[in-house]
Amino acid sequence: MDVALFNTFSRSLEKLEPLHDHEVRMYHCGPTVYDYAHIGNLRAYISCDILRRTLEYAGYSVKQVMNITDIDDKTIKRSHDEGLTLSELTKKYEAIFLADLRHLNINVPEHLPHATEHIAGMIAIIEKLLRDDFAYKTDDGVYFNIAKSKGYGALAELDLTAVTQSRIANDEYDKKNARDFALWKFWTEDDGENVFDASFGRGRPGWHIECSAMAISELGETIDIHTGGVDLLFPHHTNEIAQSEAFTGKPFAKMWLHNEFVMVDGQKMSKSLGNIITLRTIVEKDFSPLAYRYFVLGAHYRAKSNFTWEGLEGAETALARLESHIGEEIGKINESYKKRFEEIISNDLDTPRALALAWEVAKDAELSNADKAATLLNFDRVLGLSLSPKQKEIIPVEIEALVRTREEARKNKDWKKSDSLRTEINSLGYEILDTEEGQVVQRF
Ligand SMILES: [Zn+2]
Repeated sequence: MDVALFNTFSRSLEKLEPLHDHEVRMYHCGPTVYDYAHIGNLRAYISCDILRRTLEYAGYSVKQVMNITDIDDKTIKRSHDEGLTLSELTKKYEAIFLADLRHLNINVPEHLPHATEHIAGMIAIIEKLLRDDFAYKTDDGVYFNIAKSKGYGALAELDLTAVTQSRIANDEYDKKNARDFALWKFWTEDDGENVFDASFGRGRPGWHIECSAMAISELGETIDIHTGGVDLLFPHHTNEIAQSEAFTGKPFAKMWLHNEFVMVDGQKMSKSLGNIITLRTIVEKDFSPLAYRYFVLGAHYRAKSNFTWEGLEGAETALARLESHIGEEIGKINESYKKRFEEIISNDLDTPRALALAWEVAKDAELSNADKAATLLNFDRVLGLSLSPKQKEIIPVEIEALVRTREEARKNKDWKKSDSLRTEINSLGYEILDTEEGQVVQRF
């Protein structure tokens, strides 16, 4: 099965041709672990999961890397606000994030590099960029000179005619203001103990260099697919390309995939509007996280999706009805439906049409119940809706987070902390069994 994907860089549908035979190497911009991920962030990871499952279905082996940003402007600020060390803060939100992924039946990527583990690689890149004159030093840090970069801004189709030379230390800025950006920020009091020695001066990395260093170190100088939300096109991906290509002299990624936003009641989610929805909110309202997955698949990943509670309710009902077509008896996969499914999903991961086809199967009076089940379960290898007739128990994300913290405490032989966490988990109505395979959690 050939797979065609829409490459943002060329603005066209392209057949995937991996650099290394049957292995696809892909990099996803992962979470900045300073808060709960909202459902728009989570949509990006559902899209990555559909991509991975499609590639595996097509017979590729996949090397999938998703970074964890555990040091940047936002994480440092939040650690001060919460009175935690940076590592306490980021570990807490990383555990919650990974629990969210599992609840959404997302296969967690095998490689989850942390920015703080790759500082040496970032320093090496910056040293070379300084030597080769792509970067320069100022009083407050090391900056990348975008005037030296060939084709800067092509990915985001930036108009650079109005750009005057100026620089910006913030990791995030406006599309109208392409500027030299910080690769490294010299230590200031706000950074506290979060500081690293480097030949060009003590400090910490900017956000963009983190992804370049992790992607190159884990996947090589040119990767097959790089993904992220559309909000990352500029400045983040634009800057990743500029600094990586200046460093290696090679194309950074063959294909760029970008997923669209989730709107809420027709509006962009934002703190100021107070309409941010997390998976925790969804579970608290007694919806299954998989209902949200079904909801997400109802829109193509490159189309905006509009979240409403009625929409989620509809998704939950639809999912339960679809699941009711899976009985205990599993027959043969219907070849003609299978072929149509493969055409649909290999055409830029067209999940809305794949769901429509699943419904066509479910309603097909000519097909035996057993063959329906087999055909739908085959689709589900990609859709990941966890279709099965059995009841699933959902462990709330907070409980999962506590369990992971306890796991950590046990690893560090901190029995006092581990015991107090057990008491806390019990008080919330769950018990923990320590088995040979690890901790098992269940409702009392
Ligand atoms: Zn990134």
